[in-house]
Parts: sequence; structure tokens; C-alpha cells
Amino acid sequence: MAKVLIVGGGFGGVVAAESLARKLEREHQIVLVSRSRKFLFYPALVRLAFGRGEPDDVSFDLREAMLDRRITFHEGEIARIAPAKRHVTIARGEFTGQMHYDYLVFALGRRMATERIAGFFEYAHHTLDLDGAFKFGEALRTFQHGHILLGYCPGARLPVPLFETAFALSRLIEGRNEADRSAITIVSHETPEEMFGDAAVGKALNEAMASRGIEFVSDFPITRITPHSVIADDGREMNCDLSMVIPPFSGQGAVLHSRITDAEGYLPVDANMRVTGVERMYAVGDCVSLPGPKMGHMAVQQAEIAAENIAAEIAGRAVSAVYDHDLTLVLETDGKDSIYLHKDLRTDDPAKIKQGRFWAWAKRGHEQYWMRRHA
Ligand SMILES: Cc1cc2nc3c(=O)[nH]c(=O)nc-3n(C[C@H](O)[C@H](O)[C@H](O)COP(=O)(O)OP(=O)(O)OC[C@H]3O[C@@H](n4cnc5c(N)ncnc54)[C@H](O)[C@@H]3O)c2cc1C
Repeated sequence: MAKVLIVGGGFGGVVAAESLARKLEREHQIVLVSRSRKFLFYPALVRLAFGRGEPDDVSFDLREAMLDRRITFHEGEIARIAPAKRHVTIARGEFTGQMHYDYLVFALGRRMATERIAGFFEYAHHTLDLDGAFKFGEALRTFQHGHILLGYCPGARLPVPLFETAFALSRLIEGRNEADRSAITIVSHETPEEMFGDAAVGKALNEAMASRGIEFVSDFPITRITPHSVIADDGREMNCDLSMVIPPFSGQGAVLHSRITDAEGYLPVDANMRVTGVERMYAVGDCVSLPGPKMGHMAVQQAEIAAENIAAEIAGRAVSAVYDHDLTLVLETDGKDSIYLHKDLRTDDPAKIKQGRFWAWAKRGHEQYWMRRHA
């Protein structure tokens, strides 16, 4: 009998657990440990901030969802992992102490490294968790008109909500007849092309922004945030009446002591999703060290590959499932030019891009399908 422990109940952890439950004989144990028993569908948070939808529509109870699938769920905080001894330390929650495993799937996501940006914690809005999305939503309700600044910090790896927020803001201001007295500016150290690694996406985004009067300022590496401005590393200051900033990301604290991460704290993996140089440890999702944006669909694909290979190892077969590092996304523009993008991140081939209102509907349809399957 083997015990597979999955840490982290996000896209990566949930799909790894479900996939293992389908592949493994019943004698094997599957345990999922996560900080909270709520799964949250993060891509819906921008919509929630703009008052479209309720938290209950985009979250479900992990314990109930996992029980149906014969997976044991524990609510707990992973403090550290000891790959050589094959155990994790759980600091708080229903179970505390060391939990042993035969195979580990590390799926704790990434951390917001807000300490790298002075003033972020005190003054910046963001939409990267439920609390942040609510507070930004409150600020939007009281905001009348003025300059809105959206920032993308060096080390941020998630451009989709940045642009979706800009387009939703433009629609909001227009709807309130405040467009003449308001302006939206995005500041970043990178151009849209650099953020997505593709010229055609950059062009499509620049056109969509220009058609709505959204200004984009690149070469602006944010280092500091004040109540009414955002400051670049060379001292340039841009004033604003409201700001929303995507902070730098880094790997999770639970592995930082372990000497198996890269300089940013992410876990290097091979093509089979095995953590480099560590036996019986797989990593999936935002926590892995791979180039490009960090996206939920990648976590899902990586989790399927990890589950397939763990099942093979347990059965005494060679691991053979290989992960293809592709980028697929839909960026909602609140208009008829929503962008669908597919790009193979291992080559320099240009992305396949499609535009139209259909893609925003398709994104909502995907969200509803995911929630119906679990809630
Ligand atoms: C606003 C927003 C919009 C997005 N839009 C898109 C989109 O359009 N398309 C797309 O593909 N992706 C999108 N993403 C990205 C996507 O949500 C992430 O890539 C995805 O959630 C990563 O999944 P994961 O399982 O690796 O990590 P997460 O979803 O972050 O899950 C990690 C889990 O681990 C738990 N955890 C963390 N630390 C600990 C600990 N120490 N102990 C115990 N548990 C812990 C967390 O509570 C969480 O349950 C968006 C994200 C945001 C925030």
C-alpha cells in the first residue's frame, strides 16, 4: 500500500488528487492537505470585484468534494517539508506534527512577495485573493472620477487580471458617464509583448487599449507605493486617485529552507513533473520553476502528468507522461475583441490568436463547467 500526499488545494492539488483517485487501486491512500477547506476559482476574482457574481458561485467545500472521490482531506498549514525523510510538518489545523508519505505532490502555489515593494501592504489594492478583490470592489463603489493607475511589478507573473481590470474599469467609467474626467494608465517594467512573450498578442492588446483610451507606460519598474502615487526605481513618480497593483511573486516558504528551489523559491522539475534531484516528489502549478506567466490551465495539465507518473511508479512501470509547456488563455476585454491565445512556450513560433465576444462566453462556460463538477 502506498500513501500519496498532496499539499495544496488549488487547481493543481485538486486535479492531482482526483486523477490519482481514478488511476490508483483502492488499497492505496490519497491524502490532501490544504490551509483552507474552501477551493476558490481565482480567475473569477476580477468579475467579483466589479460586483458581478457572489463568492459562493466561485468556491466549493474541498472536504465534501474530495470525500465523494475517496480522498481524505485535512485542513492544515504546511510549515516545511523534509524530502530526505519523506515527511511534511503541519503547523496548524486539524492535524499537527509530521505526516509521512511515500509520494508527495507539492501544489502550494506561489506567494505574493509584497515585502519587496515598500508601501504595498499599506496602500495598494489587488485582486489576487477574495479579501483583496472585495476591498478593491469597495474602493470602486466610492470612486467618482480621476486618474486610475494599474501597476505590474518586476517579478509579477500574472498579466491576465491586470488587463481584465483595465478593460472592466474603462467600461465602468463609461457607464457612469465619467470618461471625460477620468484616465486609466498601466505601468510596468515590461511591454505587453514581453509579458506574454509574443508580438501578435502585444499588438492585439495595444489596439484594444488604444480603442478605449487606456495608456500603457513600459520601462517603469515599480519599487514604492504611496497613498496617492506609484514610484519607479529611478525616482519617477506617477500620481493617482486609485491604484491596483500586481505584486512580485515568489516560491512558498515551506520549501525555502530545503535547497531544492531556484533563486526565486520555485521548484525546478523535469518533463515528467518530478522535482529535480528529489526522489518521489512531484511539483505542479504556480510553485514550479518554468518560464512565462503562471496559469491555472498549466497547473491542471501538470497535475494530470504527475498523477499518471505516480501511478506508473507505484505499479512498477517506467514514468512516461511528459508535460508540454503551452500557454492558453482568454483575456476578457468587456467587448467584442476578447482575446484567445495559444502559444508553445518551448519554441519561438508565434502564438495563435483569435478575437471576438465568443471567447469571453467560452471562459464563463469553462468556469461554470468546473464549478458544476465540484460544488
Ligand atoms: C485574479 C486572477 C485571475 C486569474 N486568471 C486566470 C485565467 O484567466 N486563466 C488561468 O489559466 N489562470 C488564471 N489565474 C491563475 C490561476 O488562478 C493560478 O495559476 C492557479 O490558481 C494556480 O494553481 P495552483 O494549484 O498552483 O495554486 P493555487 O491555486 O494558489 O493553490 C494553492 C493552494 O495551496 C494552499 N496553500 C498555500 N500555502 C499553504 C500552506 N503553507 N499550507 C497549506 N496550504 C497552503 C492555498 O490555500 C491553495 O489552496 C488567475 C489568478 C488570479 C489571482
